[in-house]
Amino acid sequence: MSIDFGLSDEQLALRDMAHDFAKNEMRPVAAHHDETGEYPWAVLVKAQEVGLLNTHVGPENGGLGLGAMDGMVIAEELAWGCSGIGTAMEANGLAQQPVILGGSEALKAKYLSPMTAGGGARPSMCAYAVTEPGAGSDVQGLKTTAVKKGDKWVINGSKMWITNAGVADWFFVVAVTDAAKLARGGMTAFIVERAQAGVTVGKKEYNMGQRCSDTRGITFEDVEVSEDNVVGQVGDGWKLAMAAFDYTRPSVSCAAVGVARAAMEHAIQYATERKTFGQPIANHQAIQFMLADMATEIDAGRLLCWKAAWMKDAGLRNTKEAAMAKAFCADVVMRTTTNAVQVFGGYGYSEEYPVEKLMRDAKIFQIYEGTSQIQRIIIAREMFSRK
Ligand SMILES: Cc1cc2nc3c(=O)[nH]c(=O)nc-3n(C[C@H](O)[C@H](O)[C@H](O)COP(=O)(O)OP(=O)(O)OC[C@H]3O[C@@H](n4cnc5c(N)ncnc54)[C@H](O)[C@@H]3O)c2cc1C
Repeated sequence: MSIDFGLSDEQLALRDMAHDFAKNEMRPVAAHHDETGEYPWAVLVKAQEVGLLNTHVGPENGGLGLGAMDGMVIAEELAWGCSGIGTAMEANGLAQQPVILGGSEALKAKYLSPMTAGGGARPSMCAYAVTEPGAGSDVQGLKTTAVKKGDKWVINGSKMWITNAGVADWFFVVAVTDAAKLARGGMTAFIVERAQAGVTVGKKEYNMGQRCSDTRGITFEDVEVSEDNVVGQVGDGWKLAMAAFDYTRPSVSCAAVGVARAAMEHAIQYATERKTFGQPIANHQAIQFMLADMATEIDAGRLLCWKAAWMKDAGLRNTKEAAMAKAFCADVVMRTTTNAVQVFGGYGYSEEYPVEKLMRDAKIFQIYEGTSQIQRIIIAREMFSRK
């Protein structure tokens, strides 16, 4: 049998565990964290206890070393629970991934092992700090510099829109080390500790959705970083920052599927309860067609995510497929949540009902980890360059 759409027993168990966690620990507090923007520490403590944090860190650093496909089932369920809390959890994975891919064993032992060890008053968090005030899509426009002085690198510049910045113990930072080369070996990645002199973390941004995931700017002023904290080789920064997305984009896309599924389930439930013209609105064909499109697109989106993840686990290049999953699922979640609000009519527009939060949460999927326009640029580039 060459094609199998099923999950293994282990993956089914992972999915059930993540689903129970989402239902029992995330959903009950999702509205509170949306209203207040309060960082979900209590949920994260429990997530660490049950093994839902840092899932891709390898056993040699105390983690489970889960594969990309395993990550799909977890990401979908967590986002079904609350994608704001899910993003706070998954941002660790984004910052860790380039270190897993390119970091020395010593660097992994120093920065990844303590994150899986637990035992602290709160879980250890980290952040992926690439975007800058003037450079998001255009990563080659980075202005943060790292200059070698003696046996140290001195970093100056600022980052913007960094998830987990306010709570992270360390940052994965990409800086320009050779302005003449940029993406062709002129950018270098570093681990910078939050406690280092010259690191200033900005105010929390109050965003449209996913409001409890902590997004801030960071400024680096003559921050001295040891040579040991270079991730990979000098000049590997661009390559590592982009390679991480081949792992994380399918997972972010599956999170979008989780939000869309939540919205569809709410819409189905409401459509069977709400009556107009003497019958449940579920009997109106216009409502049925909206629900049918939701179900079809959610299934299609999940399959794109699974394929991209399966390719990664099989050791195949999946840059195009990861971008396809991201572009498609981000649009699906926006469309599905918007139509879920439509199914609820006026009640959908009210904070008293769950779907307006889902619609606000959905928008970011078209922006972070590369906008929907950038995904399409990547897909087209891969189409023209791959033989
Ligand atoms: C809540 C949130 C969390 C985030 N978390 C992180 C994080 O943890 N780490 C991190 O490094 N970054 C993070 N980001 C940054 C995010 O990845 C960027 O915002 C995103 O890549 C877009 O960059 P920009 O905001 O500078 O928009 P721009 O790059 O200025 O784009 C503006 C618009 O122009 C379009 N555009 C740009 N170039 C092209 C082109 N060549 N062709 C067609 N259209 C184009 C874009 O698609 C977009 O619609 C986060 C952002 C947000 C809002």
